[in-house]
Amino acid sequence: MADMEKKVEKIVKSVRDTAGALYEKADIQVEAAKIKYSINKRAEELGALYSELGMAIDKNRVTFEGPFGDHVEMLYSLIDAKKEELDAARVKLDLLLGISRCEACGHELGEDMAFCPYCGAKQNEAAYADEVKEEIGEADDVNEMENL
Ligand SMILES: [Zn+2]
Repeated sequence: MADMEKKVEKIVKSVRDTAGALYEKADIQVEAAKIKYSINKRAEELGALYSELGMAIDKNRVTFEGPFGDHVEMLYSLIDAKKEELDAARVKLDLLLGISRCEACGHELGEDMAFCPYCGAKQNEAAYADEVKEEIGEADDVNEMENL
């Protein structure tokens, strides 16, 4: 009798564990869906800003001075902020779903891929090369160029 109870207990426990794992998975999917929604929303907002920028430039083809220039500057800063939000949301989504990407082209990669199947970039070595460059300080010049 005691054996039977133990068996039942064991089964109940395993069902609970499975349900717990499924629940956790569902949680991740819900969170991922939320992030995807916010990515789409921000991408739409970014598109609207680009469109507004295009129209503003088209309306004032000659001069970038005065209120028009201010408007363009404001749009550029809104666009930059929106891009940063988008990047952050995409990184968050990748982390949540355990997705790794090619450092060169950004395509999604499978686990332990030595080469990107899209652009052919060598994966581990590229990361290694960056580390080495950082260590010997050669990367400083490149970074400064990118910030200009
Ligand atoms: Zn690639």
